[in-house]
Amino acid sequence: MAEQVATNITFHEGTVSAEERVKNMGQKGATLWFTGLSASGKSTIAVAVEQVLLSRGHHAYRLDGDNIRMGLNKNLGFSAEDRTENIRRIGEVSKLFADAGVLSIASFISPYTVDRDAVRSLHAENNVPYFECYIDCSLEAAEERDPKGLYKKARAGEIKGFTGIDDPYEEPTSPELHIKTHVDDLETCVAKVIEFIDAQNLFA
Ligand code: ADP
Repeated sequence: MAEQVATNITFHEGTVSAEERVKNMGQKGATLWFTGLSASGKSTIAVAVEQVLLSRGHHAYRLDGDNIRMGLNKNLGFSAEDRTENIRRIGEVSKLFADAGVLSIASFISPYTVDRDAVRSLHAENNVPYFECYIDCSLEAAEERDPKGLYKKARAGEIKGFTGIDDPYEEPTSPELHIKTHVDDLETCVAKVIEFIDAQNLFA
């Protein structure tokens, strides 16, 4: 857990109430946290879900692993320490988006339970809805898909510390939503996510 470094700082409260924000946005914000192996389908499902929500007039925005690693987190690699810091920062960003009233769809392998639980706690402490969505796929199926050729490289020893190969993926034990992309096709997976969101009473 990152330590507070700066001293002599004070949280500055605003005057906009949570109710006022919901009325203004027409929805309550939330974080949908997609976790799963590389190539499990997180980004593909997130793109489709974002499109459905936008088409329906809702406010949604994707935070995607590789994209964030090209910007905010460009100074982080894949060591355990950097993975933890990667998830901590994204957790903070996603909480801000959700607090602003947006449905934030965060797609990150986020392999370690302790890091995911820290993001969950952060949301709970700030009264921001958080839903962990396990985008589950067997390692065999993910490796077969291998859209970026990364499993092949990891098997050949060209990538070290690759999740599922020589770095662990700790499966969620009680996710709010469990999607199995090696069982259901894309359309069905997306429909299940949308059905789940619709059941959370987020829309005015
Ligand atoms: P991740 O973001 O988890 O690394 P991607 O979304 O980049 O995974 O890649 C997943 C790949 O699996 C894509 O090529 C996608 O077309 C394919 N795929 C096959 N079946 C599904 C499914 N049911 N849901 C999502 N993706 C699927």
